[in-house]
Amino acid sequence: MVEGFVGAGPFKTIQSVCRSLAMKLRFLLLLASLILAGCATPFRAPPDVAQIKLERVDSPVIIVEKVWLERKGGPLTLKGYVLKRLRVNDTTQTHLDVTLFDGSGRVLRASVERFTPQRIVKRFRRQSYASYSMNLDPLPAGTTRIEVRAHEGVHPSP
Ligand SMILES: [Zn+2]
Repeated sequence: MVEGFVGAGPFKTIQSVCRSLAMKLRFLLLLASLILAGCATPFRAPPDVAQIKLERVDSPVIIVEKVWLERKGGPLTLKGYVLKRLRVNDTTQTHLDVTLFDGSGRVLRASVERFTPQRIVKRFRRQSYASYSMNLDPLPAGTTRIEVRAHEGVHPSP
């Protein structure tokens, strides 16, 4: 930056216009990438697990934005991403409780999962997100519903 111009009216104006344009562009890019993610990640589960219902439960800190199942020539994987709520600063105390239920509502498996990054950084005017991925193999027989619940707090040690 040329020192002589700092604070000079026109320069400042151009700078702030550029900055707001850049911000709009970044927002559009994020929007585009989310839409593309929506298309590219089919959210279409492998046929054998297509009947499994996927449920999301938000917390005061985290919004569980997406959940899907995929098996790309490997293990069955539960994937998705979470968003930080706008006014929240610290996401490090939040984790995901992933619970597998059978048709009668019985818990078949429960685990605590982390999203990465654990500390979701604040981005100006932009939803900040993190992703998660967990191996579900071997999926318990009779699984009909999987719940991904954002949760703050601790669990008794297993
Ligand atoms: Zn929990």
